[in-house]
Amino acid sequence: MNRDLELIKEIQAIDAQIMESERRLVLAPKRKEELERELRELYEKVETEKRIIGELERERRRKERDLDAERERIKKHESRLYEVKTNKEYQALLKEIETAKDTTDKMEEEILILMERIEELRRDYQSSLEYLRSREKEIEMEKKRLEQELSSMDKTMKALQDRKSSLLREVPEQLKNTYVLLLERRGGMAVANVKDGVCLGCNINLPPQLFIEATKKEEILTCPNCSRILYYIGE
Ligand SMILES: [Zn+2]
Repeated sequence: MNRDLELIKEIQAIDAQIMESERRLVLAPKRKEELERELRELYEKVETEKRIIGELERERRRKERDLDAERERIKKHESRLYEVKTNKEYQALLKEIETAKDTTDKMEEEILILMERIEELRRDYQSSLEYLRSREKEIEMEKKRLEQELSSMDKTMKALQDRKSSLLREVPEQLKNTYVLLLERRGGMAVANVKDGVCLGCNINLPPQLFIEATKKEEILTCPNCSRILYYIGE
């Protein structure tokens, strides 16, 4: 087993963790914003539903007042039936009462439809409210977790960097330079795993002899295609 190869492999693992930490450092504030926006939208939805219910309730009360007034009018007409002198007047009054009754029927129907609509909206509002309450808790917990992660990130990063520096000091200068250059040019992956005769860095089949040499892990070998340092991970 080549000691330099093992060192490089370990450093690469640390670099992968550093990259992941950096990614999270960028993503965490975005995720927090996303959660806050979601919560804001849920609040707005609940508020809108509540407002619409209020408007419809006012409309229902208005219609009920109109209906009461109309019924009052009918009563007055009905009491006048006994006072009229001519048949013509009597018929005219009857006609008016009939028309007014049609109107109240229509009003009652409208109020009923309105009440059903309000009932339906109340159910929607109730489930929106319950959903908001449960999401509120979940979002609060996730935000707390993100904040903890962010606040411990500095320490985590420092520990990773320290470990990387101390390992790099043990790597021969030339190999160190090669590694750093590859890391920069190959998207943070300087070491490629090798499996089933394939370089997993660029997915080409390695020449059979090179693959056999790589499995021995006795020397630093590189991929003829992507130049990454090869590390055999077993079958
Ligand atoms: Zn390759």
